[in-house]
Amino acid sequence: MNLLRPLAAALLAIATVASAHAQDRVLNLYSARHYQTDEALYENFTQATGIRIHRVDADDAGILARLKAEGASSPADVILLVDAARLWRGEQEGLFQPVKSSLLEARVPAQFRGGVSPQGAQWWGMSTRARVIVYDKARFKPGDVDSYEKLAGPAFKGQFCVRSGSHPYNLSLFGSLLEHLGPAATEAWLKGLVSNMARSPKGGDTDQIKAVASGECGVALTNTYYFARLMRSNKPEDRAIVEKVGVMFPNQASWGTHVNIAGAAVAKNAKNRDAAVKFLEYLASDAAQKYFADGNNEYPIVPGAAINEALRALGSFRAETVPIAKVGANTPLVQQMLDRAGFR
Ligand code: FE
Repeated sequence: MNLLRPLAAALLAIATVASAHAQDRVLNLYSARHYQTDEALYENFTQATGIRIHRVDADDAGILARLKAEGASSPADVILLVDAARLWRGEQEGLFQPVKSSLLEARVPAQFRGGVSPQGAQWWGMSTRARVIVYDKARFKPGDVDSYEKLAGPAFKGQFCVRSGSHPYNLSLFGSLLEHLGPAATEAWLKGLVSNMARSPKGGDTDQIKAVASGECGVALTNTYYFARLMRSNKPEDRAIVEKVGVMFPNQASWGTHVNIAGAAVAKNAKNRDAAVKFLEYLASDAAQKYFADGNNEYPIVPGAAINEALRALGSFRAETVPIAKVGANTPLVQQMLDRAGFR
């Protein structure tokens, strides 16, 4: 008996050290995503790796400002942002570091990576969302709204509603059009949109969908997940909105519908770099992709991963293939055009 006592004590000591070590392993995540399903995502990662996630929630602009203010002493390891224009901005401001990972390269299509160098990409898309046209089904037909270009046409005088032109979702869409149409046609198109507005830009995408349902606007722009959220709602007033409003994936006959991303990056001054890369790789796994995309009714970035029933009901579509990093890089020029066009 007595002989076993030192062994038991030694084993206990080892176990204590091991668990203390596991508790020490913490990954600091700055996230602009706030969805219930993300909790399960983080718990699965902790169970698989023993690395705990410490999350700081803020919006995209708040996260970028915080990273800048913290500088080299920032505790951030992983950054999650929800728009290519913002990811591009973070890269420009030197807030991320390149990541070389054969797993991420195999799973995240090249179109959805930012700042690619021999050292790897500075950010990686983890889900996509399409920017679609919603329209009043009582007044317009699908053929009226089958391209973004048509929104600037005479049929929509006083009919167009949209959130602020400078919002990243619009900057990215307009940056995509700049890539496809060139600067002169894009600026003319933006001026056409301004002259077609039913009201000054205000509210978020859901407000535009509601304004179409109420008859205040004939057409508007929204990200797919805002409409999918209404489709999955069991409130009668949301069901009524979905009944009245049509959804069109524009430009199927030309370059495809504009898609944006939510994406992840490793912070420039990450103290836990290896764990941060491991977390990005985990987010690209089949199981994590399902949770990550479903949490906000988005499309998984990994081709072939499952999508939720609301997105299935919206139907399949052809997406544009322009690199999202190019779209981000176009946004400063787009902002100048918006200022000239009086698009607030
Ligand atoms: Fe959003």
